[in-house]
Amino acid sequence: MKYKRILLKLSGEALMGNLPYGIDNERLKDYAQEIKQAVDVGCEVAVVIGGGNIFRGVAGAAKGMDRVQGDYMGMLATVINGMALQGALEDAGVKTRLQSAIEMDKVAEPFIKRRAVRHLEKGRVVIFGAGTGNPYFTTDTAATLRAIEIGADVILKGTRVDGIYDSDPEKNADAKRFNSLTFDEVFDKNLKVMDMTAFTLSHENKLPIVVFDMNRAGNLLRIVEGERVGTLVDL
Ligand code: UDP
Repeated sequence: MKYKRILLKLSGEALMGNLPYGIDNERLKDYAQEIKQAVDVGCEVAVVIGGGNIFRGVAGAAKGMDRVQGDYMGMLATVINGMALQGALEDAGVKTRLQSAIEMDKVAEPFIKRRAVRHLEKGRVVIFGAGTGNPYFTTDTAATLRAIEIGADVILKGTRVDGIYDSDPEKNADAKRFNSLTFDEVFDKNLKVMDMTAFTLSHENKLPIVVFDMNRAGNLLRIVEGERVGTLVDL
């Protein structure tokens, strides 16, 4: 196994599947199966999910809402997604814990690093909800922060495209995909991997990032077992 402990970042939008809003139950089940495959080979899996399928603070602010209020709504949306994924994983027979950066003890444990690590060591999937717990951040930053805190080997950013391209592959048919990049190359070429706060945090803490297609069955397991899938960003 190449990666013993991973932090999987899923966007909220990925959970929508083909729906215009909310959570697609089939997609949720597929993701639970993908994660189960990694758990079954002994990989320790932590997950951060976004909330973009439900609410984004910037979208609220664009319509005149107070940004901080909107960001807290976004964070709560990530807890809803986390609970949905938790349910799907448990249905698939995977043991889980949900930890929230905003305390809500009826539905989630508070985020406690040592406890999260202990869960991982016992083979439980740990889902981190409510982002960083602070407005003006993103779940990419939360994913990077948690990955560093729990000592993950890598952050795996599951998207609907199969890696990092020199231009948007959904808009440009000639877009070229990179197999691997250094952090400096990403800066130099001004490529969009994660927002700058998240990316800088990864770089400074030497945490590799793999961007890959989460909708292709078996990809997560392939990466965990060392196959070169998607685009790797490393030192
Ligand atoms: N958010 C926040 N602080 C965080 C993480 C998230 O305020 O640490 C809010 C922010 O409003 C964001 C929303 O939660 O727009 C949903 O997260 P994100 O946009 O990262 O989700 P994704 O794009 O991955 O679905």
